[in-house]
Amino acid sequence: MSMIVQKFGGTSVANAERLRKVADIVTSYYRKGNDMVVVVSAQGDTTDDLIEKAMELNEKPSKREMDVLLHTGELISMSLLAMTIEGLGFPVVSLTGWQAGMETNSTYGDARIHRVNAERIRNELDQKRIVIVSGFQGINKFGDVTTLGRGGSDTSAVAIAATLGADLCQIYTDVDGVYTADPRIVPNARKLEEITYDEMLELASLGAQVLHNRSVEMAKKYNVDLEVVSSFTRNPGTKVKEGSNMEKMIVSGVARDNKCARVAIINLDDTPGVAFKVFSLLAKHQVNVDIILQSVGKNGKKSISFTIPEDNADMVKALIEENKEMLGYEAVSVNTKVAKVSIVGAGMASNPGVAAKMFEALAGANINIRMISTSEIKISVLINEEDSERAVKAIHDKFFNN
Ligand code: ASP
Ligand code: MG
Repeated sequence: MSMIVQKFGGTSVANAERLRKVADIVTSYYRKGNDMVVVVSAQGDTTDDLIEKAMELNEKPSKREMDVLLHTGELISMSLLAMTIEGLGFPVVSLTGWQAGMETNSTYGDARIHRVNAERIRNELDQKRIVIVSGFQGINKFGDVTTLGRGGSDTSAVAIAATLGADLCQIYTDVDGVYTADPRIVPNARKLEEITYDEMLELASLGAQVLHNRSVEMAKKYNVDLEVVSSFTRNPGTKVKEGSNMEKMIVSGVARDNKCARVAIINLDDTPGVAFKVFSLLAKHQVNVDIILQSVGKNGKKSISFTIPEDNADMVKALIEENKEMLGYEAVSVNTKVAKVSIVGAGMASNPGVAAKMFEALAGANINIRMISTSEIKISVLINEEDSERAVKAIHDKFFNN
């Protein structure tokens, strides 16, 4: 007998038919004698619809009231699932975030979990009930409802699994696992049997949106075995855990991020402290800088380019222009028609020639590289956005099809 936490995303609980499927999955595990805690997201587009409703009445609602509104989506799905399971004749109870003891800080809309006071959940499990918990929400020290940020139900599930010391935390979604590339771009992309936490984090931040980042960080910290599975098929999913197959996986995936922009600041003074001025200005405005490139200084001048999230582009351009005198440069340009393509693999650090192979693939496809950055387990290149699909295909071909 094991303790299993299962989380079902919005598409998995979207309607009556889907909820019946979920009830079947949950009860099939329960019948085998497992202790079951089930975390649910709001049905389908409910959260988006609620946001739209709010905007109709007040374009700048307080974050507190927004959380009161948004947390209701999950209340609907948890009670509907509980009723469905009840109807099948199984003992079940649904709990809201606060009933389940999800204690958070007070950052409405993006709250962090302080701890899970799991006494109630444990009592219910002791009475052999299936426990359904609404994801994405908690309660702060003032007794107010908070939400964990979009996609936060994954994190609710992992927090509960970590607290209970669950044997497994399954994340049911509409894809049946993590692939070596986006199957919409690379139709022969392969499903990974397993992947390490670090690889998953890199792939997630690179645009492979399967799991909420914070849930993976938390799973790593508390060593929770995760499994990404589909509620639509019965195929085996992808396990996310501390690697054992690591050595085989020199490269585990190719990711693409079209939502970045490249900023170039031309002809800055080539003196100490200039980079500090530029990047402390950006940091002060909460801009996440990724790849940084500095040109060799000539005639006492140098240029610095870097990438930022695309939706910061206008703000950053204005910011740098406002500070032209303080920074002392000649020109600034921002290009949003760029994309970052990356390969991720835990075995990369100990295997030479991986970068060369990636660049060979790009050369073969006649794709120009504008910037490069590397870490222990990742190599990223910045290229023109229009080349990005071809790049993903060529790189994937090189590493996975021979
Ligand atoms: N319902 C929330 C959202 O749409 C939380 C979640 O689905 O994880 O962001
Ligand atoms: Mg999600």
